[in-house]
Amino acid sequence: MRVGIMGGTFDPIHYGHLVTAEAARVELELDEVVFVPTGDPPHKAYAVTEAKHRYLMTVLATLTNPYFSVSRVDMDRDGKTYTIDTLRDLRTVYGPEVELFFITGADAILEILTWKNPEELLRTCVFVAASRPGHSLDRLQEVLGELYTNNKDRIRLLQVPALAISSTDVRERVASGRPIRYLLPETVAYYIAKAGLYREHNSGSVGHNTTEDPVTD
Ligand code: NAP
Repeated sequence: MRVGIMGGTFDPIHYGHLVTAEAARVELELDEVVFVPTGDPPHKAYAVTEAKHRYLMTVLATLTNPYFSVSRVDMDRDGKTYTIDTLRDLRTVYGPEVELFFITGADAILEILTWKNPEELLRTCVFVAASRPGHSLDRLQEVLGELYTNNKDRIRLLQVPALAISSTDVRERVASGRPIRYLLPETVAYYIAKAGLYREHNSGSVGHNTTEDPVTD
């Protein structure tokens, strides 16, 4: 069995994440892709939205794809979220026979040396580095050096259809009242509005009332 792991802050999840996961599933013949929203990510400079909201948005976004599921392993673990712990937990869930593929953007793979236990990371799973507009994977050898030379077969490159959507842009659009239609699934847009996420004075609580329709307005 071959399982893809799509780790992300997903603040919020958008079509860039979904297209990348689906491209990896098809290209690498994965049996399933499990989305893993981070708990407390050590690498984010801004105050990340509460994990329960990011988890629920990820569930809504992945609902219609029978090959996609969502795991709470990162949210349910105390402390900062390190990918090595994600992989150890999922290895326990899936067992030793399953081949794990960690799907990540080109930026992230170039930074893997700064992550906790990079060599163990590459022993535990195959890294799938997805490229998108403006990003090149040519620098892998130069940046990772021996780690790349010794693990070439553990790092796979994946070309993903061009989608320049980013979570930062979605948050800024909501804060300034600009549309987010077609950037992410409608269900996620409705959740963002209902929970009052990403507004200037963000309540962050589910049940926040709004008279605007996030999809049609
Ligand atoms: P994110 O911002 O939510 O993005 C999730 C993934 O989707 C990233 O790999 C990102 O690639 C990619 N992506 C975003 N927009 C895309 C688009 N339009 N088209 C294609 N791909 C797109 O999550 P993140 O904060 O980068 O975290 C990713 C994972 O790395 C998480 O599981 C996190 O725990 C892990 N991580 C671990 C450590 C550590 O262990 N020390 C440090 C950092 C991250 P880009 O990176 O290229 O944007």
